[in-house]
Amino acid sequence: MSALPPGSTIGILGGGQLGRMLANAAAELGLDVAIYTPEQDSPASRVAAHTIVGDYRDQAKLTAFAKRVDVVTSEFENVPAETAAALIAAGVRVAPNPQALAVAQDRLEEKTFFNANGIATAPFAEVNSQADLEAALGKIGAPAILKTRRMGYDGQGQARIMSAAGAAGAFDRIGARPAILEGFCKFEREVSIIGARGASAATAFYDICENEHAGGILSRTKLPAAVSAVTADEAQRAAFLIMEQLDYVGVLTIEFFVMANGALIANEMAPRVHNSGHWTIEGAATSQFEQHIRAIAGWPLGATAQLAEVEMINLIGADVEHWRTYALDEDAHLHLYGKRDIRPGRKMGHVTRLRR
Ligand code: AMP
Repeated sequence: MSALPPGSTIGILGGGQLGRMLANAAAELGLDVAIYTPEQDSPASRVAAHTIVGDYRDQAKLTAFAKRVDVVTSEFENVPAETAAALIAAGVRVAPNPQALAVAQDRLEEKTFFNANGIATAPFAEVNSQADLEAALGKIGAPAILKTRRMGYDGQGQARIMSAAGAAGAFDRIGARPAILEGFCKFEREVSIIGARGASAATAFYDICENEHAGGILSRTKLPAAVSAVTADEAQRAAFLIMEQLDYVGVLTIEFFVMANGALIANEMAPRVHNSGHWTIEGAATSQFEQHIRAIAGWPLGATAQLAEVEMINLIGADVEHWRTYALDEDAHLHLYGKRDIRPGRKMGHVTRLRR
């Protein structure tokens, strides 16, 4: 594939903060961006050259979008399969490809795919009813977590089951939707690996990040992660394998639990730039956003060297009201996503600090 020249247009499905930061990175490379989103006045559309507001199943609007862009990517993994199919039918390239999106959309497929590639996960079982749940709990044991297969993010669509008795009504509590039961991992820490694969199959990896969550939502990422070189290498190898298997183009993230003996348990993958990679804007030679744009545009991948020790904190909900304090802090790189309303649990911005 020849590289898209400056002046080409990148199409992005989704209008959130990841789309906004991707659009800014594309602009730095002289590329235009068109956003496709159902949301009016989205964070991404306010920094992009063009926006089409439409439903992800609106064939006519998707065709019009495909005609005005040179490649399409997405800033979230839950793009309906028919959306990608409609875009491809309209003649535009979609990166990463629909197969990668399909695997990452479904926790059962994702974990099965990890295991098939020799990547360990928590024990899991398919659950389609309360009876399935009780059978799965008998096999896996408590404590365990019931998670919807699809559309769960930031800890939503999940129920923790601390004992056999705690299973009562749990299937209904997650909306009686197709689910998996996962054994609870008593991990020491959480980490993520962010890799990229270019159109020519070149790969690049950022240093492994250590993540802290609060209420199922990422709250803090720091580097270096307190893991051995062996553990870091294993994470990288897993990301490499997954990208090769999927003939992946773009940035990919895998989140892992690190057990006391250093073993990695894969939790989930995101076929996109990731919140735990926001540190790369100031902390790495090339940001994850630029890297993703480079990859999907067929450009060479950028250098991934970490420039300093880094801490990134998320501004969630009312945290963002402290923006003046961060703005006064000379060591803080403040990023605000331009969301109009503050809601509990909503990602409003982030702050990165480098320790040189
Ligand atoms: P997820 O939505 O799968 O990313 O889960 C959100 C967070 O819940 C993770 O980052 C962990 O902190 C926690 N969690 C999820 N699955 C498990 C598990 N099997 N064992 C222990 N903690 C988990």
